Amino acid sequence: MLNLILFGPPGSGKGTQSERIIGKYSLVHISTGDLLREEVASQTELGLKAKEIMDRGALVPDGIVIGMIRKKLEEHKGGRGFIFDGFPRTVEQARELDRALSDYSEEVSVMISLEVPRQELVKRLLNRGKETGRSDDNLETINNRIDVYEQQTLPVAHYYDQMRKYEPVDGVGSIDAIFKRIVKVIDGVK
Ligand code: ADP
Repeated sequence: MLNLILFGPPGSGKGTQSERIIGKYSLVHISTGDLLREEVASQTELGLKAKEIMDRGALVPDGIVIGMIRKKLEEHKGGRGFIFDGFPRTVEQARELDRALSDYSEEVSVMISLEVPRQELVKRLLNRGKETGRSDDNLETINNRIDVYEQQTLPVAHYYDQMRKYEPVDGVGSIDAIFKRIVKVIDGVK
């Protein structure tokens, strides 16, 4: 299996590039943000709790996201592999992902990290907020999310770097140009 982590700050283009990657490599896309937004939309108990946290730009508790991930792994085991988008966001989530994959005798193949300067992130997210009305794409929450990323999520890059699985990719440029950079990395690990 090919198990990719697509890593990067909010607004770095993980969702956009994930769509391209699943098209080319037939992987199952797991976005914890999308899964949480589905819970919010269906107004489940979990969704009601998650909405308040997401609107502040904070992280939903590790136990909740790990539970969602384990369910998806079980549903799609035996496929070509997974692309994890927006997960793991804490070192604890990374450890749990490694544990969960090892239950299927699998492991993370590579972490591709989209590198984009903060100023560009804020610009992209404000634009997305205008176009889609996503409730966490407002200036205050955007700044919180980037701060949370720098404080709680960046250590995850170091965690995979120690295992020689961390691959930075320049996330500025056209969608096609960035996708080509990503393909080069993936074809290097396959
Ligand atoms: P973005 O990467 O643009 O911030 P996401 O859709 O990945 O957007 O996440 C939106 C929000 O959902 C996050 O700010 C956070 O509150 C919650 N969330 C998503 N994934 C996780 C995760 N792995 N752990 C904790 N919270 C998460």
